[in-house]
Amino acid sequence: MNRYGIFGGLFDPPHLGHLIIAQGVLEEFGLKKIIFVPAYNPPHKHRYSSYRVRCRMVELAIEGNANFLLSGIEERMSGKTYTIEVVKRLKQEIKGRLYLIIGADQWLEIKTWRSPEKLIRECQVVVVPRPGYELNKGILRRKGILTSHTPLIDISSTRIRKMVKQGANIRYLVPEPVLRYIRRQRLYR
Ligand code: ATP
Repeated sequence: MNRYGIFGGLFDPPHLGHLIIAQGVLEEFGLKKIIFVPAYNPPHKHRYSSYRVRCRMVELAIEGNANFLLSGIEERMSGKTYTIEVVKRLKQEIKGRLYLIIGADQWLEIKTWRSPEKLIRECQVVVVPRPGYELNKGILRRKGILTSHTPLIDISSTRIRKMVKQGANIRYLVPEPVLRYIRRQRLYR
């Protein structure tokens, strides 16, 4: 049975951390593809850029990697798009086992998500380490959950948005085409 990685997020903007994680998890767990799923109407997060803009940036970030795909599924779903609903929908469309990629920061918040137990049953959760979130501490450990060995990468979209606002150079933190897009569209000013 083919394995597919599902990588949800705001991607505002997508950064090299996202790409390093996606490639690392793909190889570590022998996945066929990684499907990037930009959040349309995130229940927990404040949205900065429009869905279209974030999708375009993901497209630019993954171009040239045939193993990375963009899914617009959240736009086709109505209302708040909870991860459990997205996973259920994706399972109807994709024949294979779904590996849901979650950063350690998000995993810590899993109890605030809708139906976390169901989510854990519906797919294989893969938690990726993130600086500041200790994966070996009890709360982050759980039977049935995989943790990846991707490197610790101290990059966040929040930091990138702040840097752009302050006029700092974000080269090498985001892929070049994303950098050019952010400049051209004058995002995060
Ligand atoms: P923000 O700073 O706006 O919260 P972010 O950098 O966390 O954004 P998201 O698009 O919200 O990026 O992240 C999508 C997924 O990738 C989440 O599961 C998040 O935990 C994970 N992730 C993002 N950056 C990293 C990183 N540097 N290390 C590990 N996981 C990460």
